[in-house]
Amino acid sequence: MESEDLIILCPYFFNDLKGAVGPESRAGALIHEATHFIGKTGHTAVGEFACRILALGEFGSDPKRCIWNADSYRYFAEDPDSWPNPHDNAMGNLSEW
Ligand SMILES: [Zn+2]
Repeated sequence: MESEDLIILCPYFFNDLKGAVGPESRAGALIHEATHFIGKTGHTAVGEFACRILALGEFGSDPKRCIWNADSYRYFAEDPDSWPNPHDNAMGNLSEW
């Protein structure tokens, strides 16, 4: 493990996130951070609303950019049933990605 692969948990993680799982959770924060070193993700969109706009391709955004966005993984993992099925053409066809 390289030093840049460390996740250091500060008091905010324990005191201010809403719970272990679910929306704005500690699990979601760990998923977000893990995608940075596993998937080399960045911060194209931050926050659930911005991630949904990115995923839906509204306002000129590109849903393919979700692949490189850490918060997209977080919000999908926290509440997967609330996101559109990528195979129902709401987000296009994943086989084209
Ligand atoms: Zn981040």
